[in-house]
Amino acid sequence: MHPAALIDAVRGWVASSERVVVLTGAGISTESGIPDFRGPQGVWTRDPQAEKLSDIRYYMADAEIRKKAWQARLVHPAWEAQPNAGHEALVDLERRGKLHALITQNIDGLHQKAGNSPERVIEVHGTVMKVVCMRCGWKGPMQETLVRLLTGEDDPPCTLCGGILKSDTISFGQNLVPEVIERAMRSAAEADCFIAVGTSLQVYPIAGAVSTAKSAGARVVILNAEPTPFDDIADAVLAEAIGKTLPRIV
Ligand code: NAD
Repeated sequence: MHPAALIDAVRGWVASSERVVVLTGAGISTESGIPDFRGPQGVWTRDPQAEKLSDIRYYMADAEIRKKAWQARLVHPAWEAQPNAGHEALVDLERRGKLHALITQNIDGLHQKAGNSPERVIEVHGTVMKVVCMRCGWKGPMQETLVRLLTGEDDPPCTLCGGILKSDTISFGQNLVPEVIERAMRSAAEADCFIAVGTSLQVYPIAGAVSTAKSAGARVVILNAEPTPFDDIADAVLAEAIGKTLPRIV
């Protein structure tokens, strides 16, 4: 089918759906200036060593890795980034009463900044907007800890117990939060239309939400510049730019 006809068909599916579930990945935020990991300009594609900063084993064992991670957080593009047309399209979808759940692998808080209700957004990999103590579990706003970096601390410990602080995100090697994953999978199973946007669908278990939705009878749409392992089971695959295409389909 011609891409324009396919976009029209998908728009029709969304219009006739009552429970649209959207799964977003780093690709929805690249047009806001936040690089993805595995795309052609991705952080790991350009520097495979950078993966260590996202690995809990290196982070907990090596103060030098933590110092680098804090420096990276200090200049994280999320602080300046503004939502783009892709994020805004999902706010419209919610206003129209169709957005059943917005499952995101992103940690940048841009869906909430765009205007999606926090209770509709399921952050399966946590958020960079908060810090967590790896010993006592205390959580607090990221900005307060970043201020400590500016006043000379390079690996600020927890002020309550002295434990190692980290962004409240799920690093590689770290357990996901079971209740959050269960909620995401349950929502996927309730969808009548499931749209995966800007994700390479390589990170499990959340990539499995695509098959969960399909098996439960949802129409599955994949909007991603590069092929994904789930393209074969999708009802439509759109290899288009998200900021242009998502507003057209929702
Ligand atoms: P990924 O990096 O594995 O894949 C992103 C995909 O989006 C790529 O296939 C790329 O081709 C596509 N893409 C990028 N820009 C696009 C555009 N404008 N239009 C269409 N397609 C586009 O991302 P992932 O699947 O989300 O997995 C990466 C992990 O890293 C996630 O777990 C996430 O937590 C984390 N991450 C988050 C952010 C963020 O919060 N913005 C950024 C980088 C990584």
